[in-house]
Amino acid sequence: MYENNFLAQNLRASSLGRDDAIFVKKEDGKTLSYGEFFKGAETYAAALAKLGVKAGDRVAVQVEKSIEVLQLYVGTIIAGGVFLPLNTAYTPTEIEYFLGDATPQVFVCTSKNKDALSKVAEKCGVAALETMDQDGSGSLPERARTQMAGFRAVERAKDDLAAILYTSGTTGRSKGAMLSHGNLWSNAAALKEYWHFTQEDMLIHALPIFHTHGLFVASNTTLAAGSSLNFMNKFDVDAIIEAMADATVLMGVPTFYVRLLTHEKLNKETTKNMRLFVSGSAPLLEETHMQWREKTGHAILERYGMTETNMNTSNPYDGERRAGTVGFPLPGVEVRIMDGETELPVGEIGSIEVRGPNVFQGYWQMPEKTKEELRDNGFFMTGDLGMIDEKGYVSIIGRSKDLIITGGYNVYPKEIELLIDDMDGVVESAVIGLPHPDFGEGVCAVIVKNGKDLSEDDVLSAMKNDLAKYKQPKRVFFVSELPRNTMGKVQKKALRDTYANTFSQ
Ligand code: AMP
Repeated sequence: MYENNFLAQNLRASSLGRDDAIFVKKEDGKTLSYGEFFKGAETYAAALAKLGVKAGDRVAVQVEKSIEVLQLYVGTIIAGGVFLPLNTAYTPTEIEYFLGDATPQVFVCTSKNKDALSKVAEKCGVAALETMDQDGSGSLPERARTQMAGFRAVERAKDDLAAILYTSGTTGRSKGAMLSHGNLWSNAAALKEYWHFTQEDMLIHALPIFHTHGLFVASNTTLAAGSSLNFMNKFDVDAIIEAMADATVLMGVPTFYVRLLTHEKLNKETTKNMRLFVSGSAPLLEETHMQWREKTGHAILERYGMTETNMNTSNPYDGERRAGTVGFPLPGVEVRIMDGETELPVGEIGSIEVRGPNVFQGYWQMPEKTKEELRDNGFFMTGDLGMIDEKGYVSIIGRSKDLIITGGYNVYPKEIELLIDDMDGVVESAVIGLPHPDFGEGVCAVIVKNGKDLSEDDVLSAMKNDLAKYKQPKRVFFVSELPRNTMGKVQKKALRDTYANTFSQ
């Protein structure tokens, strides 16, 4: 029924003839079969079509996580639309930018936000404003319930758009990454193989679904393999530990693992049914990797990806999962390390570029930006700094915009963070460059300590023998926790803003 729709057809293929197989186990213990899931998605497709969605139209969605949102995503694809999920934390002012930029045909928000957002939607010329709530109520689910399943998928080919995801962009305007049917499917198919997903798997899904990790990596891979999801509306350590009894895979951001490690029930026994723990979206501390291995006997598999490219590299399923690295390029994906126009040899740090069927089509209505970051030969300049070692393992050194230039010298924050993290009494650290009257930028460290008595002087003197003078932090600040976004990424810009005047006082 979806033959002419590239992504929908592929996402459905593994469950054809298996309509009774369980796709989702919900928080209330109820299950949804594959047949029920797709029937529901078809009713959403029909409802969207009635609201005027045609091939290529955007459907913007800012709602709380629920399985119905996944049905809306698949329904949008079936209806030929372009799914555009928005972070639930965005304010009406931010939403105005996204709606104005993406000009969706339909915007779906929560009932709670409807009043605040209806003016915004009207101002941006959105044809239909609908609501959808976590408990399954709202105007759009109601419309969908009055529709029949069996909607004939709208024709869409491999290179047609399936989704636009706005980058979290801490500098400048957020950019809409255009992802095609082929981009999404190629990655789901690659991950299914690489991570050995089968119909026997059950994935614990506790990630948000407005981001590539929870929406595509977790959900598309599960659909591709015909596996099932234990679907949690939010991250809850107790619930995850309990779910491990009959689940097989967990995908998480590093913070998940750090929090789970504090749980008294985390041990070899509680994780014995699990076969795979995946981490990504932010760097996993080597310490966390080691502690996890000690407590559970499992080596966390770290992978690297981003909104614009889906997943690029992964540690191996069989073979050494090397802490502090993100493994090898996925099949079909090329990774190279560049200094401007020159490709760097093994072991040297430079800008990471990637090419492959996973790489996006460009930024929505930003041809100039697209040209700046996507080369004519198909390589995308990720904005990450990294290196490849002699065995082919890729390591991420940090974002290029976090590189510190002090007195004309380049300083990679990661090099200093690793040293500090190794110190007794340190939980974790973030090294940043702050405006400095003499050096341009001065190196500073922000540290979370574990209760031990540790002073600025202790840290500064510990660094003296290990680091060249220009790399040594000039100041150290202690905080109770580092600022992080929902995906667990440390917000270095927020830190730079907080301590901006350190050297000008
Ligand atoms: P996003 O587009 O929000 O998914 O963010 C993508 C960025 O997250 C990448 O460009 C990296 O800077 C970072 N990232 C993702 N996975 C990892 C990882 N395993 N280790 C370090 N950084 C990562």
